[in-house]
Amino acid sequence: MNAAAHNSEQSVALATQRRLERLRAKLQDKRLDAILVSNSENRRYLSGFIGTAGYLFITDYEATLATDFRYTEQAEQQAPGFQVERITGNPNWIPALCDKSGAKSLGFEADDITVAQFERFKKAFDENNAGTRLEPTEGLTRDLRAIKDEGEMELLSRAIQIGDEAFDEVADSVETGMTEAEVAAQIERAVRARGAESISFDTIVAAGPNAARPHHRAGDTPIREGEPVVIDMGARYKGYCSDLTRTIVLGKADDKTKRVYDIVLSAQLAAIEMVEAGMTGGDADNLARKVIEEAGHRDDFGHSLGHGVGLEVHENPGLAPNGKGELQDGMVFTIEPGIYLKGWGGVRIEDVVALENGKARVLSKARKRSP
Ligand code: ZN
Ligand code: ZN
Repeated sequence: MNAAAHNSEQSVALATQRRLERLRAKLQDKRLDAILVSNSENRRYLSGFIGTAGYLFITDYEATLATDFRYTEQAEQQAPGFQVERITGNPNWIPALCDKSGAKSLGFEADDITVAQFERFKKAFDENNAGTRLEPTEGLTRDLRAIKDEGEMELLSRAIQIGDEAFDEVADSVETGMTEAEVAAQIERAVRARGAESISFDTIVAAGPNAARPHHRAGDTPIREGEPVVIDMGARYKGYCSDLTRTIVLGKADDKTKRVYDIVLSAQLAAIEMVEAGMTGGDADNLARKVIEEAGHRDDFGHSLGHGVGLEVHENPGLAPNGKGELQDGMVFTIEPGIYLKGWGGVRIEDVVALENGKARVLSKARKRSP
């Protein structure tokens, strides 16, 4: 192992230690003796283990990573702060660990496990251990993940940089007659060529009237001159996702296209300029929505303004009408207003920003190509 790899392993171990401490404070608030973490991104965030199966069992002073034989070696390597326990499909190990650690209450991730899994856990407890209460929890680790630490900021910045560069390269080479799917394939190649493990979601390339549907995938529609083309794409780098949208026009755009583009761009810039720590997600959404409504397009911006990005491409915070959650320094989220007109097309512009010292710092650098 070289020194750089060793250093990065040490910094992951330090970061996961700090994350565990924040989670433990929450467990105390909720009066829980232990929590069972089943969600894969939460597992990765708290332990550093990137395998696709396993659970974390965390008490005030213990941290156990339970996984099957395929992953135990990898788990020991990637999660040095954890006691690795080899398990099979039988959930009896959960009441056994509760017994051993004296946990009288065990939180589980009610927003992650299935009803069938819960029934199996409950049965294992009924058969093995009468003394532990199973308590549903929601969002404990997910809320921690909304605030990014230094290591996460580095990985996110790299994912965003890869996405930006891939977009600029491909956008420069798009020609009329190319299909949406061809553009999407070029983006995927460009993202991987820069060291991303994958795209972070199915690339959206929506040409002409297709752009009126915010979630149109890339199909065999050819790109024509003068039409808005919405490209929404992202790269995943070491688990972290980027998310970027640009709307481009080949050749000359008509007045309507220019007008709609300018409204969306002013709404986006207004939100970036004015969003502040302490606002709710709803307040932030309204910053852009007001601009679009005042321009006469109240009914044409049918989705929320933005969402957090991190290990998942959609995570906390949500910037949506009536969103109650408070925006805080350290959060990283998108700002992506759009206008969609059925039969004509649409325009969306999306950047990722980080809240720092109360204000938004724009992380995306891909060129905006005003028509
Ligand atoms: Zn997007
Ligand atoms: Zn997005």
